[in-house]
Parts: sequence; C-alpha cells; structure tokens
Amino acid sequence: MSKLDELVKEMTLEEKVSLLTGNGFWHTKAIERLGISPVMMSDGPAGLRKQIDTEDNLGVNESVKAVGFPCAAAIASSFDTELAGELGETLGDECLAEDVSLLLGPGVNIKRSPLCGRNFEYYSEDPYLAGKMGAAYVKGLQSKGIGACVKHFALNNQETRRMGSNSQADEKTIHEIYLTPFEMIIKEAKPWGIMCAYNAINGEHCAENRWLLRETLKDKWGHEGFVVTDWGAAKGKKKGLLAGLDLEMPGSQRGEDGAKAIAEAVRSGELDEEVLNDAVERLLSFILKAQDNRRKGVYDKKTDYQKAVRFAQNSAVLLKNEGNILPLKEGDKIAFIGSFIDRPRYQGSGSSFVNSEYVPSVKELIKDNPNIVTVRGFNEDGIADETLENEALKLAERSACVVVFAGLTDREESEGFDRVSMDMPKNQNRLIEKLSEVNNNVIVVLHNGAPVTMPWADKVSAILEMYLGGDGVSQATLDLLFGKVSPSGKLAESFPVKLEDNPSYLNFPGYDGSPQYREGIFVGYRYYDKKKMEVLFPFGHGLSYSTFEYSDLKINKTESNQTETVSVSCVVRNTGSCRAKEVVQLYVSSEISSINRPVKELKGFNKIELDAGEEERVDFLLDRRAFAYYEVKVHDFFVESGEYTIRIGSSSRDIRLEERISIRSNDELPVTFTAMSTLGDLMKTEKGRNFVRMLTSQAGANTGSDNMSATGEGSAEAMQKMMVEIPLATVASFAGMTDEQLDEILEMLNDREGE
Ligand code: BGC
Repeated sequence: MSKLDELVKEMTLEEKVSLLTGNGFWHTKAIERLGISPVMMSDGPAGLRKQIDTEDNLGVNESVKAVGFPCAAAIASSFDTELAGELGETLGDECLAEDVSLLLGPGVNIKRSPLCGRNFEYYSEDPYLAGKMGAAYVKGLQSKGIGACVKHFALNNQETRRMGSNSQADEKTIHEIYLTPFEMIIKEAKPWGIMCAYNAINGEHCAENRWLLRETLKDKWGHEGFVVTDWGAAKGKKKGLLAGLDLEMPGSQRGEDGAKAIAEAVRSGELDEEVLNDAVERLLSFILKAQDNRRKGVYDKKTDYQKAVRFAQNSAVLLKNEGNILPLKEGDKIAFIGSFIDRPRYQGSGSSFVNSEYVPSVKELIKDNPNIVTVRGFNEDGIADETLENEALKLAERSACVVVFAGLTDREESEGFDRVSMDMPKNQNRLIEKLSEVNNNVIVVLHNGAPVTMPWADKVSAILEMYLGGDGVSQATLDLLFGKVSPSGKLAESFPVKLEDNPSYLNFPGYDGSPQYREGIFVGYRYYDKKKMEVLFPFGHGLSYSTFEYSDLKINKTESNQTETVSVSCVVRNTGSCRAKEVVQLYVSSEISSINRPVKELKGFNKIELDAGEEERVDFLLDRRAFAYYEVKVHDFFVESGEYTIRIGSSSRDIRLEERISIRSNDELPVTFTAMSTLGDLMKTEKGRNFVRMLTSQAGANTGSDNMSATGEGSAEAMQKMMVEIPLATVASFAGMTDEQLDEILEMLNDREGE
C-alpha cells in the first residue's frame, strides 16, 4: 500500500475535512499525529512574494526581499520557451531557499481587451502562445520540486467586479480561445495545482462549477493535481467539493463551518465519502511531494539579477526604428528625458508585487557618461508642468537625439481595477509631441503593462517597448539602446490604433458585471485580420538591428492524414551585420469556407540566434490540433478534410513563405435531417444527394410544379441557388405529400445503415 493510501486509511473524518481549508493566508493545515506538516505557497509569477509577519493578497504588506523578473507580458514577447523554462527554474531555486513549496502562477488568461488591469500578468491574446510559454514555465519550476499553480481558471479577463463578474461566452469561444492555454499546460506540463477564478462563467461561479472543474479539467483533460480557490473565491463548501474544488484559501471561519457540514453529510450518508477522499488524496499527494522535495536551496540575488537583465533584453520589442536611428552612437550628445529615468516602472501592483532589493535606475547607470544629460520632463501624476516641459525642450534643441522614457503608472494600471482608457497620461503625450517638433531624432522607451495609443507614433523615429521589465530593466534598456544586444522580442498582442478598434470594445467590461463575449473567437489578431483592419503594430511584430531572409519552405508531405504529424521547415539567414535573434512564426490557415474561421492562427514558433551571414534550418512539427477547430456539434476539437495553407513569417503581417497542404480527416459530424433541413443540407450526404437528384429530375418532368421562376441570363444558376435554400417540408407540400410520406423520407435519409 502506498504511503498516501496508508495515510488516507489512517485519517479520521475530521482530519480529512480539515485539509479542505487552508491555515491562514499561505499554508495548508498540519496533522501532526500523522507527520503531515504545513506547506507554504506564495505569490509569483514574476518573482517570489513570500510574506512572513503580515499577510495579505493585495501586495500591501512587505514580503521577503527577492528578485523581480520581467512581467508575463514581457516574457511572452520573448517568444522563447527556453527562457520561460529558465525563469521557472530560477524561481524554483528561490522557493527552495525560502521554504516555499508552491508558487501561485503563471497567469495564463487571454488578453481580451487592452484595458484589463492585470494584462501585465498575462501572456498573450493568442491561446497557443500562452499555452506554450506557460507550459515551459511550469516545467522549469517543477523540475526543482516546486509546484506551479496555474491561474485564474477560467475566463477571468477583467478586473471590474473581479470577484463576482459573470463571463458570458459560447461553448466554441470558451474552448477554442479561453480554455486552450490551460488545457495545453495540463497535458504538457502536469502542474501540481490549478487556481479557480473569482468570476462565474455563464452564471456558475468557477469555485462551484462542476462542468469546469470536474468534467473538463479533471475528467476530460486528466488533471491529476488539486484545485484551489483564488483567495476568498470560495462559495458553498459542499457544492464546491462536488464540483471538483479541493482547497479553499485562505483559511476562514466559513471554511471551517463548511468542513464540519461536510463531515456531517458523510456521516449521515448524504455525501459519498469517496468524493471527499478524492480531494484529500489530491491534497495529500501535493503535501507529500512538497515534503519529499524539501531541501535547503541557496540562491544568489546578484546572479538572479543578471538573469533578470538578460530576460528583459530578450523580451523587449523594438516597434519602430526609422533610418536605423538605433543603436545610439557612443559620443553623441544625447538627452534622456522622463521621470522613469529616476524611478523605472518595472513591475505591476497587486499580489504579484515583489519586494525587490536592487533596482538601479537609468540615471544611476549612466552617471559617468559625460554625453548624456537627463531631465525629468514630466510629473507622474499626469498634470502638465510647463517648467519641466520647457527645460526638456531646451535640452532637446541642443541634443543630437532625445530618448524619452515614458509609459503608465500604477495609477492607470494595476490588479484590482481596469484601465479607463488606452491612452498614456496627457502630459506625457504632449511632451513627446513637442519634443518631436524641436528634434527630428526622438526615441521613445515605453514602460507599461499593456498596449497604449501613440498619437505621436509617426512623428518619432524609434519606439522601444520594454513592458514592465523587472529589476534589471534599466540595464537592459541601455544595453539595447547602445546595441550591446540586438532587440529580439515580438509582440504577443496586437496594438490597435485606437481602443474602439478592439473587438471587445462594445462589451468590455460589460453591463452590470456580466460581460458578454460577443466577439466570440475573434480576439486580437483573429479579428483585425478578418476585418482587414490597420493596426498600430500587429501581433508578432518586432524589429531587430539585423535583417533575416527566409527561404526553402519544406513540408514533408503534400497530403496528410489527420492522425499523422506534419513536419515543416525553412531556412533563415542573418543577412545583416550583427549577431541577432529572430522569432520564426508559423501560422495555419484553413482554405475551407464552410465555417467562419480566423484568417490564420499561430501554431508554431521558434527563436533562433545567428551570426551575421549565418543560416539555419528551422523545424516545426504540426499535430492534429494545428488544423482543428472546436465543433459544438461534437463538443470537441474537429478536423475538416480539405486544403490548408502553412504560412511562415517574421510577424503575423509579414509572411515570407507559404505552401498548401491537403488534410484527409476521419472526423465525422453527426447529421440528423428534419423537415426544416434544406436541400442544400441534404447535399452533404450521399443519400441526401441521391434524393435531391431524384427530386430535381421529377421536377424537370413535371414542369410548373413550383411557384418560383427565373428567366434571362444565368437563370439556371439562380434557380439552383434558390433550390438549396428550400426546406424539405416546403418541397413536400409543393409535391402534395402527406405528413406520413415526409416522415418516411426523413427516416430513409437518417438511416445510416449501409453507408
Ligand atoms: C489574486 C491571485 C493571488 C492571490 C493570493 C488574489 O487576489 O487574484 O492572483 O495569487 O490573491 O495573493
């Protein structure tokens, strides 16, 4: 008998139910008699937030000193799964050193609107990218014997009414977009825990949503770990347990009372003890793993700071670089303007807030450079200050180029509330406009967690998006500006021209706490591409100091069975003059028009590093899911037979190579004809086609048996188009059939025997 089974057998009912509620803010309960010690969990995901003395889930009270890494929005822009894995490993070592067994992260919710206050904590608008980056992070962290707790499951895409909103979406949208990252991570990385979200989905709170937690997460996807509530998200204890919730955090009197009620329900036979045992086994298995992996780790904050710098270098996105104004030339008279030079905005507020030890400012790092002069330029409160502005303009007039450090502050974006606008503070926008009037070489460095509008985008020469780049952001920014490394990040989200262009605009944050996801699967680039809309910067966009040439696309077969994998490769050559990295992106487009699919979807990416002149063959492997969509008729992912195009590019709007492939699928849709099925519907099966043929030949013989006529050029074609829209019931009445005859026809058409 395993240790776990022995323990469960030994436990009293009271001991079992005690495990269902946490002890305080960050621990599971101990059962000393059985050697079950408390296990500590702490917030991540961009750094460790271990609280010891004073506890809270809002990042208000201090935590132990740690290293802050770039936020998830930045990490995703690296498009580098190795980097995400290394971040996980690094955090794993920090957790070991601090005796923390579970890190509450990563957050893999989809960015539905640029306004979500927590976008900085999430990866992408694209489910595949979010899934891949999340899985790599989880694998890295768990390789150290520390558990990951993937959050916030699910459809938690806004902060307005965040603890009680009701996300309303259709089945296809839920699976194809919002659940996919979680599903990928469960299957690929087996996280120890999943945190269910505060909100409800279609009226049922995630914490007691049986369809979500038990049927989908545990039964369908095979999640072997436990499910914990987001902090304070628990509702009814018994309903939660039945739905698949295992642990309520933090501990609470209500939780204790609920646990007692569960014990009573088991005793009275109202609740099957096996339901309780399932939760207890999942929690014990986590606690035992944590106990077994407990060893004193060490980590060096200086080494991790250097990693934070490297991660930020690899995550930054060069959005614009007109006339190759970047990298800056050493020796030029340069003006550095902006209050972020003194105090970089390097992380977001709320539960992910890290108590960083060492966050050097740009000002500190350039203090010995005689060619750079710094001025503040603006106040962070958003109120225009003419004295600061004039000082900046005078400096700009006499400088070779100007670098403005601009962005958002915690006032505009944070956990706990949504942004009200996509704009940057007015005083910053105004200053950038004015600077561009007195100096032709303005470079904007951005510190923000989500897209902003850039009314000055055409007037400045370069834009470098640093996101919230962690403790090492200032060093990384300087390394990128001066060309010590070439930028290599790509946008993991689209930057629309204006907020109104965003597909969720009319339904975000929703009326009365009930956002309707009416844009469906058309989130981010899936929408902008479909509508052929201009964007400020597209998904996957990011420049380099080098250039790359793509050639020789090879697909290992031109025709494939849906069960086989397809190998794709192409050659990428560094045609510039410096060593640099490139993110090679693979998109799949369905050429079958029967359903409304996105123009293309990301299904592979690969980051490579090449010396000037060097080339490499880049490989991708596409499985069945790369061609599939979620089909509500079968409540599952489904592959249609037909033509697909594989597109390879440097961004979603810079496709360099493409080729067709034909996929043969065995997936079949169940078809049941009714009296309202049209002749067009009937044409989809062999039997239906034969029946329609028979009908039309009879109609040809009995001219005048219908009430529609078309004359003139193209009339035969028009007639055919009209025909496909006629329901069987109408045909039957025109033909003078009885109800019984119609039923017989339907029976014959629906009888699949012998097909
Ligand atoms: C947040 C979670 C966090 C938890 C614990 C909640 O308010 O939504 O992301 O992990 O607090 O701090």
